[in-house]
Parts: sequence; structure tokens; C-alpha cells
Amino acid sequence: MSAKRLDGKELGRTMRGEVAAAVAARVGKRPPGLAAVLVGEDPASQVYVRNKRKACEEAGLASWLHPLPASTSQEELLSLVEKLNTDPAVHGILVQLPLPKSIDEDAVIRAIHPAKDVDCFHPENLGRLAAGHPRYYPCTPHGVIHLLERNAIPLSGKEVVVVGRSNIVGKPLALMLMQKKTAANPAGCDATVTVAHTRTKDLAAVCRRADVLIAAAGVPRMITADMVRPGAAVIDVGTNSVDGKLVGDVDPAVAEVAAALSPVPGGVGPMTITMLLVNTLQAAKLLDP
Ligand code: NAP
Repeated sequence: MSAKRLDGKELGRTMRGEVAAAVAARVGKRPPGLAAVLVGEDPASQVYVRNKRKACEEAGLASWLHPLPASTSQEELLSLVEKLNTDPAVHGILVQLPLPKSIDEDAVIRAIHPAKDVDCFHPENLGRLAAGHPRYYPCTPHGVIHLLERNAIPLSGKEVVVVGRSNIVGKPLALMLMQKKTAANPAGCDATVTVAHTRTKDLAAVCRRADVLIAAAGVPRMITADMVRPGAAVIDVGTNSVDGKLVGDVDPAVAEVAAALSPVPGGVGPMTITMLLVNTLQAAKLLDP
């Protein structure tokens, strides 16, 4: 068997076209605006921010970059966030993580106005997500769910295993997968969810239970073909640099066992950026109805 390729590049392009059409339809209103804050000169962060801004501009959103030196103090960063919180042209604020060690990341996240927190990292937005009435969905988990749903991979009642429990990917993704799908929570999936992590015993056996297996551990090619139930759908969230090459958490041989597999690159990555645009449009609708 050779797995169907779950193409996030293609789907991302389609969905960004939908965002562009919705932006164009907001006649007479200022465009949704995303302010990106980049502290320091981490090369990977520079690429992420550049790609996010490029996607914004292509879809007709306004975007601004606020580059700050690595020596920026917490007070200086908080004062910029406060300025962006009150700027009516800015609907979404993205502070690219990780921040330099001298800055308290949680304090910065809490300082972002929750209505402008398009990454959905603020505790108020995470609380709303957990309670089943979200304001925004976090970008990577939402991208994963769209990649599955738009490829007609059923989730309701299915066994889904998520490998990884981070606050950015595994934990919110597990929440969304297990929740009831309602009008207020359209990304709820009604799945039966297992979350695996470094203390999980017999990870291979747990993974083999999955109708849908999602790898978000950050360990290159750790999901091998023997860990996958034949016919399962596999989503690879991992982005690892190995000898200068981008590789996922899933071994390529999994394509011989799985029915569907998302590639790295070209799977979840482009979907994450797309969902940031979706959230910025949503923020503009909330703040500038
Ligand atoms: P993270 O904060 O390092 O969390 C990794 C999680 O995986 C932890 O919960 C950890 O368990 C678990 N884990 C690590 N090794 C494991 C193993 N051998 N067996 C079982 N569980 C294991 O990473 P993250 O931020 O969630 O990111 C995960 C991966 O996704 C990374 O490669 C990252 O680059 C990628 N990513 C991609 C996108 C995208 O848009 N494509 C976005 C975000 C992240 P413990 O909790 O027990 O330590």
C-alpha cells in the first residue's frame, strides 16, 4: 500500500484563497491586520515570521514587523505589546516564540489582549477552548483537524492517538479532538483520544490502537511502520533538522502501512500559517464588525 498524501500545501493555498475572498468582501472596512514581534535573530524564527507575513500580504491582510534586538528588556517588550493592544489597525498580535531567556514568556503572553491573541496562547483563550466555547483555535492543532476533515478522514467515534502533550500542540489538539462538535465549537471532533508522552509504557502498542495517529514529539522518524495499524491515517507534526534537512517524526516507511500520511515538509506547516490568517480574519470580525 502507498498512503494517500495529505497535502497541506495545496489545502493551505485553497483555504488562504477563501480567506482572501472573505477579506475582499469586507468592503469599506480596514483590512485585518497582524503585528508580528520578533525578538533577537534566531534564523528559524526569522523564516517563520517572514512566511507568515508573506501569506498575510498575499491574502490581502495588513502586516507589520516589529524587530527588536535580543537585548530587549521585558519592560520594553511589554510596552510594545500594550501599544499594539490599543492600536485599532492591529487585530492580531503574534509574538514569535521562543523569546530570549531573560524574558518571562508567560508574562508576555498574558499581556496580549485576549481578543488579539491570534495564536490562542493566552490563558483566557485556552480556558475558553477547554470549556468548549472557543474564541480562537490554536493554529497548529486547527490545521491538523482541517487536514483530516477536508480529506474526508472520519474522526467521530474513532480512536485517535496523539504523541506529545505540549501546550502548543499535543494538549490543545487532544482537547479539540475529544470535544463534542457543536455550532459554538465546530472543530470539536467527538473522537476517543489517547495522549502519549515520554512516560507512556509500550508506546508502539498504544500507537497501534489508533485509527488516526498524530505525531507531535519532535523526535526525528520515531514513528516506525510497526507502530502503525494498517490502514490508519497518520499526521506528522514534527519538524526536525537532521543534517540540514527538514524531517518529520514519522519514518517514510510508514507510507507502506498507512492509508493516508501528511508529508514533512508540505503537510502541517503550511496549514499552521493558514490558520493564523483564519484567526486574524476572525479577530477583525470581532474587533471591527
Ligand atoms: P515539545 O514542547 O518539545 O513537546 C514534545 C512532546 O512530545 C512532549 O510532551 C514530550 O513528552 C513528547 N515526547 C518527546 N519525545 C517522546 C518520545 N520519545 N516518546 C513519547 N513522547 C515523546 O514540542 P512541541 O512544541 O509540541 O512540538 C513538537 C514537534 O512539532 C516539534 O518537532 C516541533 O518543531 C513541531 N511543530 C511543528 C509545527 C508546524 O507548524 N509544523 C508547529 C509547532 C510544532 P513529555 O511531556 O513527557 O516531555
